Amino acid sequence: MAIAYIGLGSNLEDPLRQLESACAALDTLPRSRLLRRSSPWRSPPMGPQDQPDFLNAVACLKTELPPLALLDGLQSIEQRQGRVRERHWGPRTIDLDLLLMGSLRLVSERLHLPHPGIAERAFVLLPLAEVAESDLHIPGHGLLQELLDGMDGTGLQRLAWTA
Ligand code: ADP
Ligand code: MG
Repeated sequence: MAIAYIGLGSNLEDPLRQLESACAALDTLPRSRLLRRSSPWRSPPMGPQDQPDFLNAVACLKTELPPLALLDGLQSIEQRQGRVRERHWGPRTIDLDLLLMGSLRLVSERLHLPHPGIAERAFVLLPLAEVAESDLHIPGHGLLQELLDGMDGTGLQRLAWTA
């Protein structure tokens, strides 16, 4: 059994509904249960600026799936919600990133853990702090609390769920 944190992002086709559907779908993955979800956060796009703002959230999942099986599950949810891969960092209906899985560090063709960039992104760290223990350690980066202290959250806005 492991605790996995999943980063969710959407900026197309009713992003709040996309995040709500994806959280519900996470809870139906085999041998897994959704423990908590953060608030949705509005954030300016990373990379190309000619696209709508993103909504981001983090879900905390208890799972017995091995890492690659969990990644398969995340990608099948992306497919079901109509994700089309176009340009890098471009607009998307749903993006599900496996941020962290316990204390696991892994580099393989399909999966890097922790997710690269996790430590520098306010739209990951702020929602992560809502669902993680205060002493969460991010392998290779240190304590979540210390990363948050150096983080500028300007431009991010915390919203509320409708479902
Ligand atoms: P991005 O999330 O960077 O915008 P994609 O969602 O299109 O890009 O993912 C690109 C690839 O990243 C996926 O095919 C997947 O195999 C790989 N990948 C590596 N590590 C991870 C991770 N921790 N979580 C999700 N995808 C990952
Ligand atoms: Mg992704």
